[in-house]
Amino acid sequence: MKIIMLGAPGAGKGTQAINIAKEYDIPHVSTGDIFRANIKNGTELGNQAKAYMDKGMLVPDELTIGMLLSRISEPDCEKGYVLDGFPRTIPQAESLKKALTERGEAIDAAVDIEVPDEEILVRMTGRRSCPQCGATYHVSFNPPKAQDVCDRCGHALTQRSDDKPETVKERLSVYHAQTKPLIEYYGNEGVLRQVDGTMKPDEVFSAIMEALK
Ligand code: ADP
Ligand code: AMP
Repeated sequence: MKIIMLGAPGAGKGTQAINIAKEYDIPHVSTGDIFRANIKNGTELGNQAKAYMDKGMLVPDELTIGMLLSRISEPDCEKGYVLDGFPRTIPQAESLKKALTERGEAIDAAVDIEVPDEEILVRMTGRRSCPQCGATYHVSFNPPKAQDVCDRCGHALTQRSDDKPETVKERLSVYHAQTKPLIEYYGNEGVLRQVDGTMKPDEVFSAIMEALK
């Protein structure tokens, strides 16, 4: 199963990708998490990516595409994967398609989680993330069992530096200009599945499972 998550920043891609990965026993591949791990480890790629991420801009395709294609060539991705945060531009989608076609493979489904912009700001400013395992929470809508501690791995939760209101607004405008056209792209590819992302997280998950049947 090869699944792509689409939707605005804060729509719930990461939250649902973790559930989908568990359900199908496939890896959750988040380009945002890979960039953040590189920043934490002080790599050259991390230093380059940070400058863009801090401004709410996309990391250039030249840095992102190779990184993702190399990740999905690893042995654990042979049985499939859930891509969260990739592709974010048409050239990224085309590069992915080309690489998969060369291997005789294709994307099975692109799940678009639909949430209006007004709700995004509330979700992102209340988001808390685990820098260790990538799990995400919300202070009101999806709180961890113990305050500021990750349910999955016990690490202390943090607030992402790009979840400030000014940066969120920039990320939303980048989404509308560069990423939203992917909805039409995957519609034309015949693999688009759209779900209402305004319901509770477990209801959104059930809707996704229904759409993937
Ligand atoms: P994305 O990966 O699309 O940026 P996240 O999965 O990190 O989004 O979710 C953004 C924020 O919204 C997090 O704080 C998360 O806990 C919260 N959230 C996710 N799904 C829902 C939902 N269905 N209802 C309310 N809040 C949600
Ligand atoms: P995310 O964790 O998916 O919200 O991504 C956080 C940030 O990482 C984004 O705002 C971008 O700056 C960068 N990023 C993640 N994935 C991509 C991608 N596919 N293309 C370009 N930039 C990305």
